[in-house]
Amino acid sequence: MPPHAPGMDDPVELPEEVEAFDVGVIGLGPAGVTASTELVRYGYNVMAVERERIGGLVHLARKIDNFPGIPPSSPGTIVVEMLWEHLGRFPPKIVNADVRNIYQTGVGYAMSLGETSVAVRSLILAPGTRPKLLGLPGEDLPWVYHSWTDVRAGPGSTVAVIGGGDLAIDQALSLHDGDRRVEMLLRSGTTRCNRHLQGELEVAEGVHIRTDCPPLRFEEEQGPTVVYAKGGHEIKLPVDAVLVSIGREPALPHLNDAILGLDRARYLAPEGLLLAGDVVADRRRQVAIAMGSGLDAAMRADEYLRRVDE
Ligand SMILES: Cc1cc2nc3c(=O)[nH]c(=O)nc-3n(C[C@H](O)[C@H](O)[C@H](O)COP(=O)(O)OP(=O)(O)OC[C@H]3O[C@@H](n4cnc5c(N)ncnc54)[C@H](O)[C@@H]3O)c2cc1C
Repeated sequence: MPPHAPGMDDPVELPEEVEAFDVGVIGLGPAGVTASTELVRYGYNVMAVERERIGGLVHLARKIDNFPGIPPSSPGTIVVEMLWEHLGRFPPKIVNADVRNIYQTGVGYAMSLGETSVAVRSLILAPGTRPKLLGLPGEDLPWVYHSWTDVRAGPGSTVAVIGGGDLAIDQALSLHDGDRRVEMLLRSGTTRCNRHLQGELEVAEGVHIRTDCPPLRFEEEQGPTVVYAKGGHEIKLPVDAVLVSIGREPALPHLNDAILGLDRARYLAPEGLLLAGDVVADRRRQVAIAMGSGLDAAMRADEYLRRVDE
């Protein structure tokens, strides 16, 4: 995008032919869909950018029991359908791209879409989170995954799941539902999940929990193997695949070619840069909260635009 790499606060000059919108939205999970449709409903010209698939993390949810209005235990895909339907009712312009950089322009922001860029007066960041990595040797091997829907190991296979929080257990149960044997490796002596999930875990035959077993590395000389520590020894566990699920962290793009932290992003709210959804939810990462946060960001963007137009 810009010919030079400006400092964090230097506005970037854009060529005149850049496409312009009132509001840009990065990410079309529940937060981004709610924010962009609400702004279209208010009459704004909105561009929403999604790099993967509309619905975001909801695609991974095995069953959603905490979203009033949908039948009990609906799979996340039901919510994805609802999001699509709402987008059809109040359609923003949707572009499939990975926005790695955003820039301050002096009159708003620019989103870099690879070869081109788009100018917006206000920008909502709803990019969700990305998986945390263990940083262990072998984590980049092709049979080590970070999302259960990517796991290429069918019924009857053995999958090791590393992690003991809500997400790890939810994903372990999803793998178990697909008739896989699941070996959970917990660093500590206990799981850290809500009681509902704990109850499901306790009756899930085929999910085995190994406590106080920190993983050390992944190797494949004799087939896919997780090596973990137990009581001062190294234990080798042969598996077909591994799912690492040790938490997620905010997935913000760069601002003016520099890393954008959450504090810095929050500081820019009075200048029309708003955050929505899991990216700012800390540990409260839920669909209904993400949607509420998207709505809140849309209303703040509306207030901001009205203020600058006065
Ligand atoms: C296994 C699992 C089970 C879950 N179960 C439940 C449940 O039962 N109930 C519940 O309420 N919640 C559940 N959740 C949580 C819920 O899915 C999230 O809270 C919700 O999806 C967050 O919405 P979001 O829009 O903030 O982020 P996300 O859903 O993460 O969406 C963000 C979107 O932004 C896109 N994006 C990111 N960066 C860029 C970029 N630079 N450029 C373009 N696009 C970008 C991503 O591709 C993604 O589509 C579950 C999550 C998981 C993983």
